[in-house]
Amino acid sequence: MTLTKKLIEQWVRPEIRALHAYHVPDARDMIKLDAMENPYTWPAYLRGDWIELLQDVSVNRYPDPSARALKDRLRDVYAIDDQFEILLGNGSDELIQLIAMAVAAPGRKLLAPEPAFVMYRMIAGFVGMEYVGVPLRAENFTLDMPAILAAIKQHQPAVVFLAYPNNPTGNLFGEDEIIQIIEASPGLVVVDEAYTPFAQASFLPHLAKYENLLVMRTLSKLGLAGLRLGFLVGARGWLEQFDKLRLPYNINTLTQVSAEFALTYADVFDGQTAQIREDRERLAQALAQLPGLEVFPSAANFILFRAPAGRGRELFAALKATGILIKNLDGGSPLLRDCLRVTVGKPGENRAFIAALGRALGA
Ligand code: PMP
Repeated sequence: MTLTKKLIEQWVRPEIRALHAYHVPDARDMIKLDAMENPYTWPAYLRGDWIELLQDVSVNRYPDPSARALKDRLRDVYAIDDQFEILLGNGSDELIQLIAMAVAAPGRKLLAPEPAFVMYRMIAGFVGMEYVGVPLRAENFTLDMPAILAAIKQHQPAVVFLAYPNNPTGNLFGEDEIIQIIEASPGLVVVDEAYTPFAQASFLPHLAKYENLLVMRTLSKLGLAGLRLGFLVGARGWLEQFDKLRLPYNINTLTQVSAEFALTYADVFDGQTAQIREDRERLAQALAQLPGLEVFPSAANFILFRAPAGRGRELFAALKATGILIKNLDGGSPLLRDCLRVTVGKPGENRAFIAALGRALGA
């Protein structure tokens, strides 16, 4: 055994050694339909104004540590009531981590339905929490309420994460069901609204009623994934605690200035989002017409579908070989056997995907 290997075994926690790093495949020169990005760039007139604005940025100085101007803009655009605080993260990934760090202690649990966004499980591991995944109903990925309420009672989770709509299944859980979960939870419930622009449903209006509820959003799916900006909304008391764990200057100046600028043109992004929602319906219909696929309803900017038995990986590989990258979900949760997830792209990309998938299916 080399010395490095020995030292790693001695010092790196076993649960970290057992983890696999979050894998991002190489997508150069591919039609990229794997990561729920908005496929549209900014119109030329916006780009010009943006570049001009960036010219005046002093990158020799640290960013505004509280990102005041950006927070004010978010408050305006998303109509966030003054009684709630906003906490910014370098992507909502960072916010999940801040929340988990704040509540982590030996034996404490982080609970989420399964399948869910993989970072919930991974971050629980990073911070030494136990992860409790409660399987969704296998037939339609809805919440199994008796199972989840029993798990909450048994495990008394410090925090529950619910993605609304859910990733990777794309469906929107029942509002009443989420309320039941909030009411039954002894700790925090974070409603993760990463895909809310495509669902037009939100728990922000419920914040005033539930003291254990926080709402998390991101600008990534809206079209600003490269800027890395997530935000958490909730009672000042909670957010003050997480803020202590935030590394200083976590939101860099270019992100602060660019996101604030972009949000003044929220209508441009709303237009792109509306287009994506329309194209999602077209894509779902086209998928449903291919032989042997089971297509699950989506309220997000992606669609989950199941390939004919035993053919999920093969279809994923066939698409990849033709230069189309989607996400293979087979091999993770047993509920996702032969399942693939495709992000809604531009109309031409969606057509190329459907044509290639049709050929791979022998249709
Ligand atoms: N929540 C959910 C449900 C997601 O699917 C993702 C990204 N795939 C995130 C949060 C993280 O998004 P970001 O860090 O880009 O804000």
